[in-house]
Amino acid sequence: MPSMICVAMLVDEPSRAIAAAERARDEGADLVEYRLDTLFAGEGDDAGAAACLEVVARSPLPCIATCRPVYEGGGYEGDDESRFGLFEAMIAADRPPRYIDVEARALRRAPGLRARLAAAIRAAAASAGDDRTRLILSRHDFDRRPPDLFRQLADLRAQPEADVLKIAFRARSLRDNIDVFELLGERDRPTIALAMADTGLLSRVLAPKFGGLLTFASLDAGAATAEGQPTVRDLVELYRFRDVDPATFLYGVVGWPVAHSLSPNIHNAGFEALNHNGVYLPMPVAPEWEHLKATLATLLDFGPLHLAGLSVTIPHKQHLLRFAKEDHTRRWLIDPVAERAGVANTLAISGTDSEGAVYRVMNTDVPAVTGPLAEAIGAEPNAALGGRRIGVLGAGGAARAAALGCFEAGAAVTVFARSAERAHRLAEDIAQGSMLRLGTAAGAPPESRGRIDAKPLDAVSKTPCDVFINCTPIGMSGGDDEHASPLTDAALDAMPPDGVVFDTVYNPPSTPLLRAARQRGLTLVDGVEMFVHQAAAQFHAWTGQPAPVRLFRRVVLESLPPDEREHA
Ligand code: NAP
Repeated sequence: MPSMICVAMLVDEPSRAIAAAERARDEGADLVEYRLDTLFAGEGDDAGAAACLEVVARSPLPCIATCRPVYEGGGYEGDDESRFGLFEAMIAADRPPRYIDVEARALRRAPGLRARLAAAIRAAAASAGDDRTRLILSRHDFDRRPPDLFRQLADLRAQPEADVLKIAFRARSLRDNIDVFELLGERDRPTIALAMADTGLLSRVLAPKFGGLLTFASLDAGAATAEGQPTVRDLVELYRFRDVDPATFLYGVVGWPVAHSLSPNIHNAGFEALNHNGVYLPMPVAPEWEHLKATLATLLDFGPLHLAGLSVTIPHKQHLLRFAKEDHTRRWLIDPVAERAGVANTLAISGTDSEGAVYRVMNTDVPAVTGPLAEAIGAEPNAALGGRRIGVLGAGGAARAAALGCFEAGAAVTVFARSAERAHRLAEDIAQGSMLRLGTAAGAPPESRGRIDAKPLDAVSKTPCDVFINCTPIGMSGGDDEHASPLTDAALDAMPPDGVVFDTVYNPPSTPLLRAARQRGLTLVDGVEMFVHQAAAQFHAWTGQPAPVRLFRRVVLESLPPDEREHA
């Protein structure tokens, strides 16, 4: 049976709940979970119970009726005796719920009630047959992964009256998703297993891959009933939940933070357009090397995950390269550009371990600068950039990719940064790295290399350049310098008429820098172009197919806030 999407909602008033359930149905949900405990707030028990029965009876979708007690993280303050009485009434009603969710802890606390509930379900079965209400026996841990997780599963399995087992716990890291999948692999009856928090998203989206009965979703981003629930729209449209199956390949973006990355939007759209059986997810991994190392090892070791590719972003680009160099248990191929850059942003896995998988590490940021720049100039990179005076603004990761790519294409590069020391270090790194690796497999051909030096940022107006590449966050939406430009008017005025201004900032696509350059008739390259190019190279490495670049660009522009869409 395919996994279902269940929209979970806290019910405050019956008619509003029914309207929300109708919307859930229209957006593609199969099931709705009514958290009915909220109906008792300020109501007497009788009024609350009547409202519960009304909601279940009017539900436009099959439903799970849940009335969570306070001792299990819910809002129901009454005793279990009355709560089980409510369940009995629902089960016996003309339009009973498809499921009721009862906590394993509640059954343990009240063995007498367990017998009553079982009798009510049996009685309903006699009259309703297959339409009878089914019992979900649940365990939750909102704080952590329980240390005795698998014993908890065994306890649940020992309860014969449970039709469905449910275990949900808060993930501490991505690695906890693997426990969820292993737990599902041991199921002896329909099972719901989920990890909460943003690190648990894998367990929610990949439920169909590992045979989970259902996954929970919210109707709106702010209306989740548990941490980390995606919206039903994201599940269906962004993550293509209906297409996920046991053979689906997993991809994702590893970084910290990654919640606002647009990479899931473009890669999932690309997979859909090319009919590639893959899903791409945000994968937050805490900043330290130890976290990246442990997470990557766990994900790579778990074959059934079918991990096929990763985008890797701040702060793990260096860590990925280090992992590839230090891990001797797999066959790694480090692309020369990644080796020379000292950072990598892509992992592509081909084949399986049994047939000798190859783990390829790449840097697609470098060609994502030189490619669009050469296109803007209208020639091949070396012809376009050879001998040109290129000013790179900033000395971070993007600046390193830009400076390396331009240097190796033969340009005369000057790195400008507010920290003269960082600028010099970057320039020296690139020049020396290239010299050190001269004649090695990773070395750039000597004839193509240009020159590189460094200056403080305030020297930019006095240093004529044919091309400027902004690699600082100045002009970025939401940043401290959102309305500022990294270049003075004097620096732009000193550019030749065929000068090019490249802003790597992509939100907004039209930055103050690009607007000022456009006014002067200079050629522009925006950060969307770079973003799309680095993603397109990843997509090609993963699928072997050319990326739908125009689709990527459209998806990025549509995903940015509406008032930021004016294009440079
Ligand atoms: P990073 O490693 O943090 O480097 C940022 C650099 O900008 C540092 O050298 C920093 O100087 C400098 N900087 C920051 N604020 C500044 C200011 N107010 N004035 C002068 N310099 C300033 O970040 P990154 O990864 O290189 O990313 C930089 C920008 O590139 C991002 O904002 C992003 O928009 C863009 N980017 C775009 C793409 C794309 O695909 N389009 C990809 C990667 C990055 P200090 O060293 O002194 O702090």
